[in-house]
Amino acid sequence: MLAFDARHGSTKAALFDNSGQMLGFSHTSTPVCDVTPAESLMLHIEDLTTQFARDFPKVTPTAAGLIAPGIVDDHAGIAILSASLRWANVPYKRLTEDRLRLPSTFSNTARAIGEAEFRLGAARPYKNVVVVRFGTRITASLFIDGKAHDGGGFAGGIGHSIVDAQGEKCLCGSHGCLDTVASGGAIVRRYANLTGDAVTGAEDVLERARNGDTAAEGVWNDALEALALAISQVAAVIAPEAIVIAGGVARAGDELFVPLRRRLDDLLSFHRRPTVLPAILGPDSTLLGAALRARSVV
Ligand SMILES: [Zn+2]
Repeated sequence: MLAFDARHGSTKAALFDNSGQMLGFSHTSTPVCDVTPAESLMLHIEDLTTQFARDFPKVTPTAAGLIAPGIVDDHAGIAILSASLRWANVPYKRLTEDRLRLPSTFSNTARAIGEAEFRLGAARPYKNVVVVRFGTRITASLFIDGKAHDGGGFAGGIGHSIVDAQGEKCLCGSHGCLDTVASGGAIVRRYANLTGDAVTGAEDVLERARNGDTAAEGVWNDALEALALAISQVAAVIAPEAIVIAGGVARAGDELFVPLRRRLDDLLSFHRRPTVLPAILGPDSTLLGAALRARSVV
């Protein structure tokens, strides 16, 4: 199985055997091309595939899974929109099949993480579960009655659910989206705006909050309140048994999960109360998810 995780800046690729063992891995720069970005990405994954064939001459891949950020229609295999990679309506599933001459799948980053956690990770015991990726942006993947639900590509956009209609303008054009308060990018920006101090990541803001910095505490608490509110709305609408939280900010551990569970508990009444727990598969879960998707079409 070949798996490719293409992002703005870098592309990870892996070769898996049929048992799910990762045999080969590469981390390269994503080619930058404003004129034909899809063609340059296809050339890149063809080169990466050739390299794996050289390194592992006895392994013959039977399928390929490509993932990328943005709005992706998994069933049609089309990238509807990716602002960071500058493409719209690109039929990547077909392009990958044509280029590599292998059955292929195409999905987005959040759904690949969700697939890996649902099949092999923290979401495995549940049939109704939401896997939230809490990183620079906040995205999610939904599993309803044991099946992935992608809503024609638009499901899981929890980062653009409104938590404060009078709030800050979001990149999407709306106001007060969850991403403007709780994403890793927002935590860094809001702290810098309040204090004038540049920080490198949300973890730095949390570290400052831990050391009694009141501005950092305020920014972190606002993020938790907004995240709990958005999750309570998901709980009210689809009644998941569990919410699994993945991504860099989720590594905060109890400092995230203990207050988040308490706030969520305060917001819910008669609803089914989801168990809120951390993802367990780590940063390469994207590649694992891409490979699992690929395996499903062999
Ligand atoms: Zn938005």
